[in-house]
Amino acid sequence: MAATGFGTMPVRGHAQLILTRSRLIRHTSTSQKTWDWTNRPTTGDAARDEVAQLAASPRRPLTLADLLRHGRPPLSKDALLASANFTLSLLPARLASRIQALRNLPFIVVSNPYVSKIYQNYRHSLSTLLPYQQRRITTLEEENQFGEVLADLVQTHTNTIPILARGFLECRKYVSPADVTRFLDTHLRARIGTRLIAEQHLALHFASQPVNDEPPGRSKPSSSKEAVPSNYIGVIDTALQPARIIRLCEDFVGEICELKYGVRPRLVIGGEPEASFAHIPVHVEYIITELLKNAFRATIESGNEREPIEVTIAAAPDVPGKEPPVAGDADIGFQLDANDEAYSTEAMGASKSSSQSITIRIRDRGGGIPPEVLPHIWSYSFTTFSDVDFNSENGNLDALNTISSSGGHLSSIAGLGYGLPLSRAYAEYFGGSIAVQSLWGWGTDVYLTLKGVGKVD
Ligand code: ADP
Ligand code: MG
Repeated sequence: MAATGFGTMPVRGHAQLILTRSRLIRHTSTSQKTWDWTNRPTTGDAARDEVAQLAASPRRPLTLADLLRHGRPPLSKDALLASANFTLSLLPARLASRIQALRNLPFIVVSNPYVSKIYQNYRHSLSTLLPYQQRRITTLEEENQFGEVLADLVQTHTNTIPILARGFLECRKYVSPADVTRFLDTHLRARIGTRLIAEQHLALHFASQPVNDEPPGRSKPSSSKEAVPSNYIGVIDTALQPARIIRLCEDFVGEICELKYGVRPRLVIGGEPEASFAHIPVHVEYIITELLKNAFRATIESGNEREPIEVTIAAAPDVPGKEPPVAGDADIGFQLDANDEAYSTEAMGASKSSSQSITIRIRDRGGGIPPEVLPHIWSYSFTTFSDVDFNSENGNLDALNTISSSGGHLSSIAGLGYGLPLSRAYAEYFGGSIAVQSLWGWGTDVYLTLKGVGKVD
């Protein structure tokens, strides 16, 4: 199980992502030696003004066309440089806007060591990008260095979620849960976009270069073209089959259940298991893992582990002329630009049969959600889980300890209270949704709708 660039997301089974990660780590480990300009000598008011100016600069929502405009890897030199410069045109303003938002938190919150750590991470990342703002990236060598900067950026922010979660838990006396949820929802949605931008260029970068520095003992592909499945464009899998991801996540969550409870419920997949669409595997994997954790936990804790979790997959028929989804805030959402040819089915290389949207219903016999709990399930940090095994007074801080001691990925069945709200943020990012229907006393149905990111009529 590998922690990925997407924070707490477990990723297995995606050759490209694993490849990316192994190279990420290598790049990061060498990065300090090769840079001499990462810390700008701008401090105090000057830096503050620079951040404020950048944060105030106009931004438009990210579009799918943005992610696809440079084409299918391996990219030509010009396309790779264009992708690097384009990435550079998007990231600084977005990072600056997060820095501003953190600064606007009550002082007692920003002073918390964990929240402050995140603030410093953002400042550091912005400072590594600023030197590039003055000049364009014009050579492959510069592009390589920029790749290292991006890899460092992705790595630096990997553990943001557990760290922020800890910070806000410690500050819960000073801020209302509604304010925390509002801040985190904006922040974590913006983070989805920032990471997507950085990881897309990194994926294109790695997929466009010959792999000639593989560690010994590994089979050595002559080019990354062979290592990356042809249906990938950067981080987008144009033929993603949710049923495959559900099976991977079932394995992972099943293992956690065996460790924690000594049992593993069964999962059956019905409906249209062959359905496929273009989507971002790490996003789908994050959501499914969280929803399965909830379903498995409820099933076991209600003593119904013999009842299978029923997953039904339905591919929605395409609706011609339907308006593409548009997110309200330039920083937090994604917009499909209906006039852009770049993401037509053909351009994406998706098969004609791939769907525009897929709904997955996860049905458990875990007893449902108590009516008094229901109003809180979308709040960050709300959980009904408390790990008695740890026998500690810390409540959900134990879930966080489990996370950090396991190297950054979420290996606890529950306890952070981020599963549902963050899954909804991921689903909504590309115009999807999550709806929870509880049949109290019986079980829960969760309807996850994901819009295929590669097909618009
Ligand atoms: P966590 O799982 O860390 O507690 P989540 O955001 O995933 O956080 O879920 C919040 C709460 O919603 C859970 O603690 C649980 O009480 C309730 N819940 C979510 N899904 C289910 C489900 N399928 N069955 C019963 N309760 C659920
Ligand atoms: Mg959960």
